[in-house]
Amino acid sequence: MIREIRSVDLFRQAQDCLVGGVNSPVRSFRNVGMDPIYFHRSTGPWIISVEGRKFIDYVLAWGTFILGHGDEDVKKEIINQLELGIHFGSCHELEIEFATLIKKAFKCIDKIRVSNSGTEAVTIAIRLARGFTNRKKILKFAGNYHGHVDYLLVRAGSGLATLNIPSSKGIPQEFVNETIVVEYNDARAVEEVFEKYGTQIAGVIVEPVAGNIGVIPPQNGFLRLLREITRTYGSVLIFDEVITGFRSEFGGISNLYDPDLVILGKIVGGGLPIGVIGGKKEIMDLLTPVGEVYHAGTFNGNLLVLAAGVATLKKLMKMDYRYLEELGQIFEEGIVAIKNRFNQHRIKLNRYGPMISIFFNDQEVVNSRIAYESDRSLFAKMYRFLIEKGIYFPPSPFEAIFISFAHTINEISYTIDRIEEFFVKM
Ligand SMILES: *Cc1c(COP(=O)(O)O)cnc(C)c1O
Repeated sequence: MIREIRSVDLFRQAQDCLVGGVNSPVRSFRNVGMDPIYFHRSTGPWIISVEGRKFIDYVLAWGTFILGHGDEDVKKEIINQLELGIHFGSCHELEIEFATLIKKAFKCIDKIRVSNSGTEAVTIAIRLARGFTNRKKILKFAGNYHGHVDYLLVRAGSGLATLNIPSSKGIPQEFVNETIVVEYNDARAVEEVFEKYGTQIAGVIVEPVAGNIGVIPPQNGFLRLLREITRTYGSVLIFDEVITGFRSEFGGISNLYDPDLVILGKIVGGGLPIGVIGGKKEIMDLLTPVGEVYHAGTFNGNLLVLAAGVATLKKLMKMDYRYLEELGQIFEEGIVAIKNRFNQHRIKLNRYGPMISIFFNDQEVVNSRIAYESDRSLFAKMYRFLIEKGIYFPPSPFEAIFISFAHTINEISYTIDRIEEFFVKM
């Protein structure tokens, strides 16, 4: 066992001044039974701890750094902008350039509004859906995460779950009375909810590929059903592409299904805080100052954020996403080979392009209920083994493993070999 002396000391200090020693809960590493590693530097596919240990980074700031850490072009644009001004809180050219790039990538987006986090963008999307339809109810899916918005923090339920139990203290029951939760990929449950409440449903919000309960791709026809049924009932369809946007192509899954609103974040801020809401003109124009759905923000469209965002998007426009698909495929094939070689039927690999999950489960993981039944202690054991070998996976089976353009076949092969070694030792 390698001793992370300085990390241990820092975590002890942090616990005296930060709640739980962290600023966001998964960072505590509690799910994997170890203390957090303190990082000092990052570059390309690497992240380096305060002890100077180098890890292959598959977290990438929770999916933000699709170009890898410290991309030279992105850094240059941030530095150039820094000289001109950090934030005006007023109009500037970069916001037009940014919006134009987003529109180029998404056919269904006529107009956008920029805010400071995915959570904020989701809040605006829900407000817009309700403002546009004059209805109250929102349908969401168990295991989908849309930031820490009060009325969407509703516990996962199985089947047709209309449990409406807040999964966080501090959220009054009244706040979630209009939230309906059904299991992801459960088409029948969606139909039942619409038969019962259809004309009261303002909007349906979905992660088109679930990425916050581990990776769970949509089953055949699930997203198409959502598109059709929301059209039939006049509800707003919201695709939360905060993870999937620009993940596997220059654009997103929205281009196949034409949702009414799209939420972006993570990648599009180039490493700085952002949330974007985009969509059809007739809905977006309800936002103030044109319409009467209020939205504002001191830091919206911050210069450094948009400099990083524009630089990232311009670069992504020229990237060949087949590279990410190839690396994803190599990763997948490696895991499948291990599964066969060691007769480990419980290894279940889910993948959408460069986002991957490894579950230990008897069944295929197609929804949150099954995901929760996965063997977490085995995951934790593998996790700690891989940390020892210099591989940094997200410290939870419910967070996606991400591959960036900075990763190469060398890192992927090394990782697969170490996972194989773990099963040899077992
Ligand atoms: C990360 C995430 C959010 C929230 O974004 P923040 O910037 O953390 O507020 C919303 N939706 C999805 C799908 C996410 O992955």
